Amino acid sequence: MAKLVFLILITVLLNLPNTTSIMTTDANGIVKLRDIIRLTDELEPEESQELPDDKFINHSIINQVDSTKLKDSIDTLTSFHTRHTKSVYIENVTYWLQNELQSACSDSIYFHNFTKIDQGSSYYLKNIICSKDNPASPFNNSNDLILITAHYDSRMRDINQPNARAPGADDDASGVAAVLELARILTQVNLKSNIQFVLFSGEEQGQWGSTAFVKHLKANNIKPDLVINLDMIGYPSLGLDKIEIEYDQGNKSKTNDKYSKEVGEFIKEIDSKYTNLEGSLSPLGKTDLVPFEAAGITVIGIHDGGSENNPHYHSISDTPATLNIEYLTSVTELALATILELSSC
Ligand SMILES: [Zn+2]
Repeated sequence: MAKLVFLILITVLLNLPNTTSIMTTDANGIVKLRDIIRLTDELEPEESQELPDDKFINHSIINQVDSTKLKDSIDTLTSFHTRHTKSVYIENVTYWLQNELQSACSDSIYFHNFTKIDQGSSYYLKNIICSKDNPASPFNNSNDLILITAHYDSRMRDINQPNARAPGADDDASGVAAVLELARILTQVNLKSNIQFVLFSGEEQGQWGSTAFVKHLKANNIKPDLVINLDMIGYPSLGLDKIEIEYDQGNKSKTNDKYSKEVGEFIKEIDSKYTNLEGSLSPLGKTDLVPFEAAGITVIGIHDGGSENNPHYHSISDTPATLNIEYLTSVTELALATILELSSC
């Protein structure tokens, strides 16, 4: 009974219009992420006076992250012999993921098809996108858009062995499992930002999928406000309470550095409010964020210490048994908290 009352209370709170006053618009009526970040801090005292309990709502959403679902996704993803982009298995992985996203995303799931020619062969590959629009401000190329990304392919040490066993539990079944879980939860929440959950193919060959996707965005004149990439988030190599936040300093484009650092510092500010994690800033690695950064887009990565600290990296031993699901749950919660803080409405 108490649980039922609690659930009703949550439902009522989630449906209250204008439950936050941090919304701001520019001259064109467009809510911009940078304003949201700044205003979140500025308006906090006022918020707590007039809102029912904003943090309470966020906590209740964050509590929905389900460790069992994360583990199940990782078990299935690693049960494919390999997810190597050139392997015969990759298509089955793609369709399994589409199916997994179906219940959360229904008719807003689509493939971004691209062809890559490599070493004289053509590869017909798919990025998978689940799109969640704010119904009050549907995505129209110029309003607020956040991408949450991970790569679903894996590899062995020798990249030219496409059909060798490559479970890729940490790299990057962990990130994919988190994106699936974030899609399941966030598609049920009213958000100011439009969100796209994007799963890339071909990361291990040199960011094939994300590079093709950035081209697709450019061709359609779409510039996301922020890309949050989750690549290796289940092996707590730095400690159970440590997380690295990759931010952009320099690299190809200079114009996107400032907001990347602001978002990184913002995540460091909120980590202890929602999780037991303590974030530290680190430079951008060779991930799917590279082509986004080069296109001048604001990027941020969250990872467990990454390739340098996981001895199972690109090895047959990168299995679910080496992961810590409780840790993965916390990192997923942190990603969720970040999105809620940046785009609650
Ligand atoms: Zn990776």
